[in-house]
Amino acid sequence: LPNEFELARPVLQTIEQAGYEAYFVGGSVRDTILGKEIHDVDIATSAYPNEIKGLFKRTVDTGIEHGTVMILDHGTGYETTTFRSESTYTDYRRPDQVTFVRSLAEDLKRRDFTINALAMKEDGEVIDLFDGLTDMTNHQIRAVGDPQERFHEDALRMMRAVRFASQLDFSIVDETLAAITAHAQLLAKIAVERTQVELLKLLQGKAPQRGLQDFMATGLWQHCPDFADHGPALTALATELTQGVSSEIAAWTLLATKFGLNSAAVTPFLKHWKTANQTITAVQAASKAAQILATSDLNAWQLYQCGAALAPVANEVAVILGAPDRRAALQAQLAALPIQHKKELAITGKELMQAGIQPGPQLGAILGDLEYQVVTGVLPNETAALVAHVNA
Ligand code: ATP
Ligand code: MG
Repeated sequence: LPNEFELARPVLQTIEQAGYEAYFVGGSVRDTILGKEIHDVDIATSAYPNEIKGLFKRTVDTGIEHGTVMILDHGTGYETTTFRSESTYTDYRRPDQVTFVRSLAEDLKRRDFTINALAMKEDGEVIDLFDGLTDMTNHQIRAVGDPQERFHEDALRMMRAVRFASQLDFSIVDETLAAITAHAQLLAKIAVERTQVELLKLLQGKAPQRGLQDFMATGLWQHCPDFADHGPALTALATELTQGVSSEIAAWTLLATKFGLNSAAVTPFLKHWKTANQTITAVQAASKAAQILATSDLNAWQLYQCGAALAPVANEVAVILGAPDRRAALQAQLAALPIQHKKELAITGKELMQAGIQPGPQLGAILGDLEYQVVTGVLPNETAALVAHVNA
C-alpha cells in the first residue's frame, strides 16, 4: 500500500472498531492500482457524519449536508463521506439532496465509472462490484450501470469521461460512448465552471488527442461556450496535440491561438467560459506572441509586451501549432532586454513633471514612448539621457 494509505489505516481502524464500515474509495484507489502517485485519500463509511465526529477529536465540517466530514489526523485531512445514494435528479445536475445509506454497494452504484467505483479495505483488499479491475486492465472507461440513465442523471459525467480518457490514455467503451453522443446536448445544462474544470484537465492530460477525439466524435464540443464555430480547428487539435499542455493558461492560449482570436475576441470568449480576469489578460498577451512565433521570431518590443513569465507559454503553444522550438533563443533575448518591466524604467512621471512636463495625457504618452525607446535599445535606460531626450 502507498504511504498515504498506510498513514490513513488507523483512521479506518478507529471507525471499524466502533462497529462501522470504512473503505478507501475513488481516485486514490484507481490511481494506486494503476501504479500512479496519489494526492488525496478519500474515505467512504457507513457511519453518519455525527457518528464520525463523535469518534475523532479533530474534525471539520467541510460538506456535512452531503455527508462529508474532514478528519484531521497527524496533520493530514481525510475527507470522509457517509455512504449515500442519490435519488432525485433535476436539471441533469447532481442532486442537492442525498440520502445516507448503510450499504457500500448502494454507494458504489452511484459512482460514475467502474474504475472509479472500486473500494479498498484497510488491509488492501479490493471490493470490485462492477468489474472495474477488468476495465482497468483493458484500459477502458465504462459507466456504472445503464449509461443512458447515468448521463441523463448528471451530464457532467460526460465531460469526466473524456477527461479520464485523456488523463489515463484509456478508451471509452462503445456503449458508454454512444450514450454520451445521445446525451451530449445536456452538457448545456451544466454550470460552465464545472465543464471548464474537466476541459482543462483534458487538455493537460497525458493523451489529449484521445480525449479530444472523443470530445469531438460525441458532439460534446458543440455544447461548450463559443466552440461551435471552431469545429475544424478543434478537429485539427485532436491530432496535433500529442502531449498535454503544461498549465491552464497554456490550455486557453492554445485554444485562442488555434481559433485565430485577436486580443479583443479573447475577452468575450473567456468571459463566456467564466475565467478569472487575470487569465484573460495573460491569454491575450501569450496568444498574441504565439501567433507571431508561429511564423517568426519576436522582436524586443513584442517579447517585452509578452513578458518573461508568458514567453515560454507562447513558445509552447507555437510549437504545438508546428513552429520550431525557440525556447533557448527567447531566454537569451529576454536576458538581453534592457528592462523587463515598466517599473525598471529609469524615470517616473513625477521626475518628468519636475523636468517641466505638464501632467495630463501627454505625460503618459511621453512615458510610453520612453519605454519603447529603451526596450528597443534606441535610448539607454539612464535618467539623465531620458530627461535630455524629452527636453530636446
Ligand atoms: P481526481 O484524481 O481528478 O481527483 P477522482 O476520480 O478522485 O479523480 P473526484 O472528482 O475527486 O475524481 O471524485 C471522487 C470520486 O467520486 C470519483 O472517483 C467517483 O467515484 C465519484 N464521483 C465524482 N464525481 C462524480 C459524478 N459526477 N458522478 C458520479 N460519481 C462521481
Ligand atoms: Mg479525487
